[in-house]
Amino acid sequence: SDHRLDYPISPAHMDWASHFPAYVDKDPTKTNLSGAKKLVKDVEVVDIGCGFGGLLIGLAGILPNALMVGIEIRPQVLEYVTSRIRALRSQQEKLKAACTNTHTPTPSQSEPIEDPKEHTTANDNNSDMNQSDMSPVEGGYQNISALRSNTMKFLPNFFARHQLSKIFICFPDPHFKARKHKARIISETLNAEYAYVLRPGGLLYTITDVEEYHHWVLKHFKQASTSEDGEDNDGASDTATTGEAGGTETDNNEGQQTGIGELWERVTEEELEKDPCVKVMMEGTEEGKKVTRNKGNKYVAVFRRKADPEWP
Ligand code: SAM
Repeated sequence: SDHRLDYPISPAHMDWASHFPAYVDKDPTKTNLSGAKKLVKDVEVVDIGCGFGGLLIGLAGILPNALMVGIEIRPQVLEYVTSRIRALRSQQEKLKAACTNTHTPTPSQSEPIEDPKEHTTANDNNSDMNQSDMSPVEGGYQNISALRSNTMKFLPNFFARHQLSKIFICFPDPHFKARKHKARIISETLNAEYAYVLRPGGLLYTITDVEEYHHWVLKHFKQASTSEDGEDNDGASDTATTGEAGGTETDNNEGQQTGIGELWERVTEEELEKDPCVKVMMEGTEEGKKVTRNKGNKYVAVFRRKADPEWP
């Protein structure tokens, strides 16, 4: 329960140094309000409910200059993803040493490099979690980390106003029953918090395999996808991509422009096609891979955080 969750009393008290040792400021006098060493840059990307870490690992080399953190509530899952990142960092360091030092044997000649699976503490029944990628990744996975928390309660304890450039919510728990909807990680109240920590121009990415949840997402960002479901219709093109290669069903609604949230605007399909983060979100997460295997649909919606409205 929450009393066992560790969280800082404010973002200025958060100790990020242990998460991102490669980014600790060399000046020892630079400390935060809890006395922890400061980083040379702030965390700016968050994966809410990161699960086993597939998104972070996929994004590490795509956004090598961004510090990214996954937040996960289940302790064993967090332990797993932390071990996985530690193993990947260590692999990369060995690879770097092998490449830069001609006297050092190459990875294949030296002792076997640790398999992240050996660090596994979670009950792993998903073969996709085995990461044995031995190619150099820009940044060497030093830019990703994970922590345990309940994002529904403590997000503003970790991140200051406008700190983040991207938030990902990939395959959130659907909580199908109406009386459980309050447990959903997307709601008007939580969206206001996401708008608080996300900078204007920042993006909030969502993906789900549950069509009803997708409509819930659109509704709670003051948009809806179809004219039949009784919600507002913003005219956005809504694409459900199936797990089968290349298979898509498109529901293109040429509706009237109504009800768009004051703080959010939906990112267009054309823009999403050019965004490599969307591809990772579709194919890189453990849940996304499962949906692909089961030939399920994937519904993507990405929202841009608009500038704060002017005060009268
Ligand atoms: N995003 C991952 C993926 O796509 O593979 C995991 C998806 S899984 C269905 C949802 C994850 O969100 C679970 O690992 C769950 O423990 C986590 N979660 C649910 N509620 C949470 C909360 N309030 N704070 C942090 N994590 C949460």
